[in-house]
Amino acid sequence: MKKYVYNFKEGKASMKDLLGGKGANLAEMSNIGLPVPPGFTITTEACNEYYNKGEQLWSELIDEIMEKLTDLEATTGKTFGGGSNPLLVSVRSGAKFSMPGMMDTILNLGLNDEVVKTVKDITDNERFAMDSYRRFIQMFSDVVMEIPKSKFERVLDEIKEEKGAKYDTDLTASDLKEVVEKFKSIYKAEKGEGFPQNPKDQLLLAVTAVFRSWNNERAIIYRAMNNIPGNLGTAVNVQSMVFGNMGNDCGTGVAFTRNPATGEKKIFGEFLMNAQGEDVVAGIRTPQTIEKLSEINQEVYDQFISVANLLENHYRDMQDIEFTIEKGKLFMLQTRNGKRTTAAALRVAVELVEEGKITKEEAVLRVEPAQLDQLLHPNFDSAALKKALSIAKGLPASPGAASGKAYFTAADAVEASKNGEKVILVRLETSPEDIEGMAMAKGILTARGGMTSHAAVVARGMGKCCVAGCEGLKVSEELKQFVANGKVYKEGDYISLNGSTGYVYEGVIPTKEPEMSGHFATLMSWADEVRRLKVRTNADTPKDAEQAVKFGAEGIGLCRTEHMFFSEDRIAAVREMIISETVEQRKVALAKLLPMQREDFIGIFEAMEERPVTIRLLDPPLHEFLPQEDEDIKELAKTMDIEFGKLKARVESLHEVNPMLGHRGCRLAVTYPELAEMQARAIIEAAVEVKKNKGIDVHPEIMIPLVGELKELEYIEKVVRQTADKVIAESGIKLEYLYGTMIEVPRGAVTADEIAKTAEFFSFGTNDLTQMTYGFSRDDAGKFIEEYLKKGIFDQDPFQTLDQNGVGKLVKMAVDLGRKTRPDIKLGICGEHGGDPASVEFCHRVGLNYVSCSPFRVPIARLAAAQATIKEKMGEYSQK
Ligand code: PEP
Ligand code: MG
Repeated sequence: MKKYVYNFKEGKASMKDLLGGKGANLAEMSNIGLPVPPGFTITTEACNEYYNKGEQLWSELIDEIMEKLTDLEATTGKTFGGGSNPLLVSVRSGAKFSMPGMMDTILNLGLNDEVVKTVKDITDNERFAMDSYRRFIQMFSDVVMEIPKSKFERVLDEIKEEKGAKYDTDLTASDLKEVVEKFKSIYKAEKGEGFPQNPKDQLLLAVTAVFRSWNNERAIIYRAMNNIPGNLGTAVNVQSMVFGNMGNDCGTGVAFTRNPATGEKKIFGEFLMNAQGEDVVAGIRTPQTIEKLSEINQEVYDQFISVANLLENHYRDMQDIEFTIEKGKLFMLQTRNGKRTTAAALRVAVELVEEGKITKEEAVLRVEPAQLDQLLHPNFDSAALKKALSIAKGLPASPGAASGKAYFTAADAVEASKNGEKVILVRLETSPEDIEGMAMAKGILTARGGMTSHAAVVARGMGKCCVAGCEGLKVSEELKQFVANGKVYKEGDYISLNGSTGYVYEGVIPTKEPEMSGHFATLMSWADEVRRLKVRTNADTPKDAEQAVKFGAEGIGLCRTEHMFFSEDRIAAVREMIISETVEQRKVALAKLLPMQREDFIGIFEAMEERPVTIRLLDPPLHEFLPQEDEDIKELAKTMDIEFGKLKARVESLHEVNPMLGHRGCRLAVTYPELAEMQARAIIEAAVEVKKNKGIDVHPEIMIPLVGELKELEYIEKVVRQTADKVIAESGIKLEYLYGTMIEVPRGAVTADEIAKTAEFFSFGTNDLTQMTYGFSRDDAGKFIEEYLKKGIFDQDPFQTLDQNGVGKLVKMAVDLGRKTRPDIKLGICGEHGGDPASVEFCHRVGLNYVSCSPFRVPIARLAAAQATIKEKMGEYSQK
């Protein structure tokens, strides 16, 4: 017969699947001889069986529970449901992965009208007995019988008011007796019968309630958010009660073995004397720091410290421990690996290695890569944040925090910044024209757009905080104002953005600059020792490139040349090039751009030194470079000295119904080969110059975007190679470069074997590849993906975490096909996914050579790449 119930003594830490996290740790603590109140765990398998049987307990299980209850009575010398020394128990849920708040705990179970009298007599403390009983009735009614908590709270408040009591603790034994009677009548009115007096019934009902809670709405949502499978089930822990509220030699507390905020190796905790668990949390009285316990009871304090040390050494990680003191005796109620800030996680991991407790590889696995983000951007001061007024919420598009005055056009933002203002640029959505305003702003807020919208991508690249797709805002660029929650915010009003959470606040919130501690560097060096994937960066300027190198970038995986076209000094030449009617005219305009592009590339090559630099030829649809409003077209016509009507006609001719699928990417170079020629020349001339002047062995890689057909790539290759080879030959020096393509059109992936005949490298543009595989517009998907997530259609936004099942299959196919044709083909990824830990693991698994991401995500990718290597060695890829 299958065993469904385990005494704590029968379990161990490795049995989390069966006993849940709490049960396994209680078992482990019991077995290493710690003072744990005895009890038993009903397994997660029993929970699943409960559902298989149509949500029923069955007789064998009930017998097994009763058997263990008898054992528990023998161990404690107490009797459940009566006798001269009654046994009371707590009943708690505990799944494999901790799901805090999924279900309330039921304490003091086993009390009834008779037992409460015995408890009063043996403790000689009527107040304690009545207080325990009223807590039990309320918890049981709420958790097990689903009677709203508020009904009980109302009664308690009324009695407190009547008696002039400020806190619950001011109520006397006879007040509490009255509370108990009133609580019992609420129960009767709700259920049509009296409060259950048989403790065994109470227990079985409580067990059923815990099983049921596995599928309550908040548990389902929590699991979806944390990728916890729905078929694991929860265990139920039944444990004999110890009381921290029996008098002044009793108490309860929580402690971490190291400081969870800083990681400092020093016990950190709080306790309250004469209190039960929830009192510490409820803030009824201010808890004391754990050190003060030594003044109250030195012996218990010393014992607690040695147990804490023992637990940390045993689990080889910082522990979060709950304890109770009953009549001067210490009991351990829970231990688990403690949650901690990123700074603390780094320090604890590094110091545990230095203390010889874990290996470097274990330390690398201990830090969540995405957590590093906290250290790489400024953050709001947490005390100030608590008082701030939140006015809207959008997508957390680019992390960090910023406060400043709202401005509604890029030009206004630039001007205000030049006048020394701190600026938040607020737009319906940004376009490449806004680049300067974005660069000057402290933060960017848009009403539209998703996680890969222009604003989001550019802001992340700049390491600038951005909240995008804030649909609740009514932005009027014309009126220079926005409305949130019915209130109007005008140009110059202060607002604050948290790009890590998506919240928008009114007013200024002070920020704290990121700190890079030595532990951070140490852990990253250990990550670098093990990882196989290289990590490059997406950078378009020497400044971004330098920042990325500081964060450990090993090359540039994507330099988007269009970002250079928008600056004030070149937009005129770019526009001239676009509206040219003949090749000759276009060449004249391009000749003006050539020296500027060359200078850009020189700066980037110098910043990157010998590291490889992938430069992508022009990609976006050309209309993005032209003004759209008549007013602006008129102005441009004047400066360009052409007729308004003519210019307007040209702007209109560039209009596209679906520009993301229109005249962009390599299609531009096919139409205007002289454009590719100019860019190839600028790249190679810059490389030659840097090599000649600085002696740096530059490694340019010329990349063609949006290729879906080999012949596109071949056609452009002729133009690029002829130009490049000629420049090199004329220079008289040796320079090597690569010619390759992005794989971002599904057809490109499917025909990768053909494309690899010409391409010396592939870089997966997973932003476009996701867009085109799903048929979701990148710029509009923000509007509905949130709904998909809420409704459980998606677990993740596929623009943030690579859809491994669909888009990933195309990537894998292209990797295999590409290598078949060209075994030494270089393979990388430069879509936003290159900085997402789960996607980095995927890239490792399919055998890419590198990932490329925005400078501020380089450390995250380095750590994720190291973890992928270690997990591969251990045969433990995360479930996806
Ligand atoms: C991509 O599509 O993934 C990519 C990197 O190119 P862009 O985002 O510039 O279209
Ligand atoms: Mg693309």
